[in-house]
Amino acid sequence: MAVFKLDNVEDLYEIGDVLGSGHFGQVREVRERLTGTLWAGKFLKLQRSVGSRFGLERKSVEQEVEILQSLQHQNVMALKDVFESRAEVVLIVELIRGGELFDFIAEKENLMESEAIDFLKQILQGVCYMHSKQIGHFDLKPENIMLLVKHAPSPDIKIIDFGMAHRFIQGVEYRSMGGTPQYIAPEIINFEPLSTAADMWSIGVITYILLSGLSPFQGETDEETLKNIVAMSYVFEPHYFSQTSSMAKDFIQKLLTKDQRERMTAEDCLIHPWIKPLTKTQMARRNRSSINMKYFKRFNAKRKWKMSYNMVSACNRLYKLKLVCKTGAVDKQDLRECESDQEDTETKTVSLLRRRLSSSS
Ligand code: ATP
Repeated sequence: MAVFKLDNVEDLYEIGDVLGSGHFGQVREVRERLTGTLWAGKFLKLQRSVGSRFGLERKSVEQEVEILQSLQHQNVMALKDVFESRAEVVLIVELIRGGELFDFIAEKENLMESEAIDFLKQILQGVCYMHSKQIGHFDLKPENIMLLVKHAPSPDIKIIDFGMAHRFIQGVEYRSMGGTPQYIAPEIINFEPLSTAADMWSIGVITYILLSGLSPFQGETDEETLKNIVAMSYVFEPHYFSQTSSMAKDFIQKLLTKDQRERMTAEDCLIHPWIKPLTKTQMARRNRSSINMKYFKRFNAKRKWKMSYNMVSACNRLYKLKLVCKTGAVDKQDLRECESDQEDTETKTVSLLRRRLSSSS
């Protein structure tokens, strides 16, 4: 069992504003009292009892910590320290101030493919590094791709949220049903043995959206989205892809490949001519093509709206739950849980399976 520091985090860090929240807690700005340095503190609620619906299993947090401890790369969020109390674990991590990459791009008037590639290249470098250590992220999506700072000539990408990450062990199969419908690979839906290639599928989806403002497999419902993924039902609709180079489409196609062994690896991607042009003509084509800003902005606005809708409905559910608690309609155990936890009870098919509904055999 991993040992985390038992000191009271507040003795060493001053806790500041909320920067964001996830399924299992909040991320807050924190100031190290000794040096004045600013960090981010990820506060993760632990399960109070075995099998409780609220909070995270300690084992799951240990896995996230162990993975973060083994990753030191410019494009991966760094971990500094870990504290534990009875009810929560606090991860002190690098403070990432630049917000989400997609929000940064959506603020622009236009963006050439070559500029989008500069960001993509950094994502690929981070992922390539992770994969070289046999670690798969398994939750690559726009929300987990941030910028260290916003106002820099070429901002640094940081990949965050290793809550679903997994380290592969040679000879041991790994299956998982976790992820976010729009971005998950067909082998996840089919509960097949997984590899780091699942991340490459997600990068294919992210690139598709980045260039067109359209989500390739998005259906009316999550069930429909999952069906579309398994059926490989996607096209490059001319209306959305009129400004896209053929090299970019080739890049996406080689990632949205059903057979995970046929899919490009991060290493392959980094030498694909769209990312690393070999000729002047290839270079010129990237500079002539641009991303579909009108539809990208629309996609991003909808995405943000959905995120805040999910947050508000989670709060409403919590509020209702607390009312039930106050009227004494639930037993004492539930009362303790609902007073101390804010787990999002989102009903999305795959989100329900978030975190560690996985198996190694
Ligand atoms: P999820 O429910 O998606 O698994 P989580 O509980 O694992 O989320 P994160 O995704 O790691 O939490 O973080 C939640 C949010 O907090 C992020 O979307 C981001 O806005 C913000 N955040 C996370 N890490 C940092 C950081 N290092 N610096 C600044 N903000 C951060």
